[in-house]
Amino acid sequence: MIDIHSHILPEIDDGAQNLEQALSMAEAAVSEGITHLYATPHHRNGRFENEKHSIINHVDSFNKKLQQRNIPLHILPGQEIRLYKELIEDLERDILIPLHHQSKYLLIELPSNKVPAYAAEMFYELTLRNYTPIIVHPERNSEIIEKPEILYDFIITGALAQITASSVIGNFGKKIMSFSHDLLQGNMAHFVASDAHNTTSRGFHLTKAYETIQKQYGIDRRYYLQENAELVMKGESIYIEQPQHIRKKKFLGIF
Ligand code: FE
Repeated sequence: MIDIHSHILPEIDDGAQNLEQALSMAEAAVSEGITHLYATPHHRNGRFENEKHSIINHVDSFNKKLQQRNIPLHILPGQEIRLYKELIEDLERDILIPLHHQSKYLLIELPSNKVPAYAAEMFYELTLRNYTPIIVHPERNSEIIEKPEILYDFIITGALAQITASSVIGNFGKKIMSFSHDLLQGNMAHFVASDAHNTTSRGFHLTKAYETIQKQYGIDRRYYLQENAELVMKGESIYIEQPQHIRKKKFLGIF
């Protein structure tokens, strides 16, 4: 199993705080059946800056530690990039990391409570340059929860969406769980990933999320999501189903 979003690298963001925690996370990932794990440290989120060169060095040294301890997990370099105005310039400066050098998938994070006015244009500019933005955890963005058509429009213009395993199983509350399932049902969730930060409050939960999806939507939906992560790793295109509009629900029991 492949997980495209995690904060496993020690001491560089709000994920693993030291090597021992990172190794415990690696063991937890292996016990879930994860074989390949993207390390995607935060970049430009207001607290952390992690550029390509440094991430690659950290990934190399962490992979060596995993080998020394015989932990059968392979870490791949990635980056969780907050949407910011100089993003395209920084791609040209080669300080950002796509999940694959050819297919150029980029994990893009929006601020948690809003969608910047320039987002649509930025996604469009990225697609013009053959990058594919993968919007991480849209189910946790309060503006998208209020107006799901914002995400619909991004997807129509070529962006993809990654929902978080913990959201699917209810660890972020009922509202976020319900909206995650709306996205799954509306073909607006192309990936499920852990966004794991530790082994306690923000663990992997990927297997449980896939099992929940299989139970509710059938095994084909699970395979579709799992295979998309594999396709990203191989640098291939994923199959995109036509997204469906989500009808806004009222969350106090009146539908
Ligand atoms: Fe993250």
